[in-house]
Amino acid sequence: MTESLKGISGSMFAGKTETLLKEISRAEYGGKKVQVFKPEIDNRWKTEAEIRSHSGGSHKACIVKNSSNIIDCLEPDTQVVAIEEIQFFDAEIVDVVRSLLEADIRVVFAGLSLDFRGEPFGSMPTLLSLCDEIEKPTAVCTETVDGKPCGAVATKTQRLINGKPANYSDPIVLIGDEEEGYHARCPKHHRVPGKPTPKPIYQSK
Ligand SMILES: [Zn+2]
Repeated sequence: MTESLKGISGSMFAGKTETLLKEISRAEYGGKKVQVFKPEIDNRWKTEAEIRSHSGGSHKACIVKNSSNIIDCLEPDTQVVAIEEIQFFDAEIVDVVRSLLEADIRVVFAGLSLDFRGEPFGSMPTLLSLCDEIEKPTAVCTETVDGKPCGAVATKTQRLINGKPANYSDPIVLIGDEEEGYHARCPKHHRVPGKPTPKPIYQSK
């Protein structure tokens, strides 16, 4: 194995796609053949064959149903595989990434570290453990405090339904999920009603 694994992990609106696009550009500038994959579940921007960042950058991508389709769609001269929204893939994605590395193909992925409840998302914990390098871009908390945005570093994704925080027991992925229902939040302003609270470190008498 000669190639390395890089993970880009963060909340929504942290610029993960932009960071992934930068990695792709660097590889292509260095003369590498890059293939970009994303899971079918991500219907954001309603475009079928590209990844696109909030700041307007884009790159063509293969949309695949299962993680094993990445191997099926791999072209023989590919040297770098970039994977967008990796948290939505099935658990087999870990083996797929390992097989790519074993074949001396560099892998760079972007994914949501936590779901809206603040719990680790899909295979992200395992994938991040395997990384040689991790980049964690952050967003800005947009919660209104005294009429202004909070502005603190945001590492969590808040889901709001009709303006109210979604419950812990709500499904992790909603059918027809739109970005409008999500907001970047700092730890202080991330609210999940019904979330089990950790055991307190001090017992009250
Ligand atoms: Zn905040």
